[in-house]
Amino acid sequence: MKKPITALLFSLLPFSLIAQTTIQRDPFIAQMVGEVSADSLRSHVDRLVSFGTRSTLSTTTNKTRGIGASRQWILSKFQQYAKQAGGRLTATIDTWTLQPDGKRVDQVTQMGNVMATLKGTDPNDDRIFLVSGHLDSRVTNVMNRESDAPGANDDGSGTAAVIELCRVMSKRSFPATIIFVTVSGEEQGLLGADHLAERAKRENWNLQALLNNDIMGSNNSHDTRIIDNTRVRVFSEGLPGYQTDSLAANIRQYGLENDGKSRQLARYTKEISERYVDQLEVVMVYRNDRFLRGGDHSPFVSRGFPAVRITEMNENFNHQHQDLRTENGVEFGDYARFMDFEYLRKNTAMNLSVLSNLAKAPAAPQNVTVEVRSLTNSTSLFWQAPKSGKVKGYYVLMRETYWPFWQKKFFTDKVGMTLPYSKDNYFFAVQAVSEDGNESLPVIPRVGMR
Ligand SMILES: [Zn+2]
Repeated sequence: MKKPITALLFSLLPFSLIAQTTIQRDPFIAQMVGEVSADSLRSHVDRLVSFGTRSTLSTTTNKTRGIGASRQWILSKFQQYAKQAGGRLTATIDTWTLQPDGKRVDQVTQMGNVMATLKGTDPNDDRIFLVSGHLDSRVTNVMNRESDAPGANDDGSGTAAVIELCRVMSKRSFPATIIFVTVSGEEQGLLGADHLAERAKRENWNLQALLNNDIMGSNNSHDTRIIDNTRVRVFSEGLPGYQTDSLAANIRQYGLENDGKSRQLARYTKEISERYVDQLEVVMVYRNDRFLRGGDHSPFVSRGFPAVRITEMNENFNHQHQDLRTENGVEFGDYARFMDFEYLRKNTAMNLSVLSNLAKAPAAPQNVTVEVRSLTNSTSLFWQAPKSGKVKGYYVLMRETYWPFWQKKFFTDKVGMTLPYSKDNYFFAVQAVSEDGNESLPVIPRVGMR
């Protein structure tokens, strides 16, 4: 009587061993998420605002006012955190001089990106993960270097987040390197980010991801009157930067226009953030940035690095790029009192979870390939171990071709897997997984034969 059932089970055995995986929080990351503090973020923003203006064109010699003093203060915070990092954190200001460009720079200007580098502990791991905000601020006229420009939310929020991430994360160690950076010159045309992206390219950094945080601490819009601190946006470009003809042909043939590296990073950001941060939904926006605006991720995207922009769900344009004034009873200006520091806490914790999970994970698997030797209704994938990191196993990810994010996750400790789902009907990708369950960025398979 039992025989048919046994036979049925046996016939299904190769596939019945494959089970979808559910993932627990890594306690190491969960603990750090709990240490991100709204009070601490508020004090960072208040201090940034106290410099009066942080216009890139403002004074660099005054000790208490202007962009020079604000850069020195951020450097001093990074140096303070370096003391708790056992020699692994180094803080510097990457400086250069700009000549007038006939656009948004009208005189010789001393520039500086303030950076803290938390060196990875694995000498074989050259991966770098970057998190950024821009320290400069502006009022209505971008050439105005004198008026008060508090820049509490734009981009005191992103700058404070970077400082807070450094505070919490520098007490820990990670196999890969994390760089915390606050750039100058965003409002003058993404100048600091362009300088850094060019340097990363020139120095051949193995830069795996940039999370750019710009305007993420206010919960309301000025026109639609929405108030919401439970959602945040991540903007990403779908196509990979630096396309070649053969890459473009590959994208067209296999339908990969929604699977560029920045889009993958956006999916990863959504999944990991929602794993660790309660009461926060990450809304993926399938475009590089908003209308009429730009951001510091773009110089990286255009050089082929995976990079995304993190921005609040609803923007209040009365409090961005505005001269400080009251008109018809409406108060204009980017002050801290218009922000929601509990929301900024969640958005900072979101960054922390993603950066930590990336830097703890092994490098991505190599030579990921989907087998196309013959016509079948199943999918065989194979790959090689990553260049660095201890691997417990791999996740094979799967989604419908029309679905925005990965739907199924299968674990294996082998370097290949066959699934009873047709490669014609789904997208697949592979991630390497650490002993603690931290997964690498996913790799889309190329087409090939074993
Ligand atoms: Zn900004």
